[in-house]
Amino acid sequence: MTFSDLGLTDALVRALDAKGYETPTPIQRDAIPIVLTGRDLLGIAQTGTGKTAAFVLPSIQRLAESHKKLLPTHCRMLVLAPTRELASQIAENARGYGRNSRLSVATVFGGTSINKNKHDLMRGVDILVATPGRLIDLVEQGFCNLSMLEILVLDEADQMLDLGFIHALRRIVRMVPRRRQTLFFSATMPESIRQLASQFLHEPETVSV
Ligand code: AMP
Repeated sequence: MTFSDLGLTDALVRALDAKGYETPTPIQRDAIPIVLTGRDLLGIAQTGTGKTAAFVLPSIQRLAESHKKLLPTHCRMLVLAPTRELASQIAENARGYGRNSRLSVATVFGGTSINKNKHDLMRGVDILVATPGRLIDLVEQGFCNLSMLEILVLDEADQMLDLGFIHALRRIVRMVPRRRQTLFFSATMPESIRQLASQFLHEPETVSV
């Protein structure tokens, strides 16, 4: 099984070659074909399984295929993560995988200059990776508009609940279009997460590793 077999384009496969990835991990093998169809996904997977590439690669492909013009302050894909470390790591991965795709990537999280965030979002961005609190600040101040979002990703949802982001997540989900693709990842699936997932996802496929 190769990344091409999963339906990824040559541009992405070349970026993966450059990183030395030859074989998809189990979550990548199962999730990539589902995400490419545009369906919602509930992924039960820990860090270290390759879950970042499992949602970033097919999302990049979908964004690159439709190639919409970016409007100022808008973004096409939003990835929410619990911590600045994880957000930075996801953004770094997205820049690496998207190196042949000409998509813009920005990261915003608390504890850093909000003016720099505003500057980064001004012209619009294809892929925005954010922690929930800082994202809400930027939306409220008019520097980030989620009304044309195409893909929403919640990464480490259990961690986000543990850190008290539940209200922030609900607010963000109310700001994004109803018609969108949602990818929801969590390492654990207690009842609270299951409920949240059922509210955010539309007829999802479930992948568990
Ligand atoms: P993640 O679970 O997304 O945090 O990824 C764990 C680590 O595995 C990261 O350092 C990735 O760069 C690496 N990785 C992800 N997918 C592959 C793959 N198919 N082959 C080799 N390394 C990978």
